[in-house]
Amino acid sequence: MTFKDLEIIDPILRSLQEKGYTQPTPIQEQSIPILLSGKDLLGCAQTGTGKTAAFSIPILQNIYLNTPSDHQSRRRRKPGLKALIVTPTRELAIQIGESLTDYGKHTGIRNTVIFGGVKQGAQTQALQRGTDILVATPGRLLDLISQGFINLREIEYFVLDEADRMLDMGFIHDVRKIINLLPSKRQSLFFSATMAPEIVKLSGKILGGNPGKVT
Ligand code: AMP
Repeated sequence: MTFKDLEIIDPILRSLQEKGYTQPTPIQEQSIPILLSGKDLLGCAQTGTGKTAAFSIPILQNIYLNTPSDHQSRRRRKPGLKALIVTPTRELAIQIGESLTDYGKHTGIRNTVIFGGVKQGAQTQALQRGTDILVATPGRLLDLISQGFINLREIEYFVLDEADRMLDMGFIHDVRKIINLLPSKRQSLFFSATMAPEIVKLSGKILGGNPGKVT
């Protein structure tokens, strides 16, 4: 199995080749077709399995294919926020942002990373320049939403990453608030290393009726 067999488009294939990825990992092989078909996804997966690429590649591809502007003008259009990835820690947020930048470097799709514990100025400036994909930790996200720097009205793709750590770190209340601000018509992805009853319950609030399941 190759990424080409998974119907990954050329601008993304090129960046994967440049990264030296010769074949998809098992979670990528399972997740990518589900996500390209538009279905929701429940993923039981640890870090280190290739999980980040498993969700980043299809989101980049879906945004790329659904953006009607021709590719020459892509650079000049002001990006609109279409995808939100919520993750529990600053380190994970930075890593996901770097992956999106790498895999998406020939697509013109922009990402911004926001997290707490630092001044917000650089983050709000990046947001004001426009972004297609936002990677965020929960507290800073809600903070910048309440200040009017972000609105989630046009979100088409939502990822909750490391849901079990999110609960362990006490973010459940913040996560619920974020979910309530999302449009109901969206594609949702839910990842957790464990599937305790509380996690399954949360996944039920986020995902539609019949999500694809991968482990
Ligand atoms: P993750 O589980 O997303 O944190 O990824 C773990 C590591 O595997 C990262 O360093 C990725 O760059 C790398 N990786 C992800 N997918 C592939 C692949 N298909 N081939 C080789 N390395 C990969």
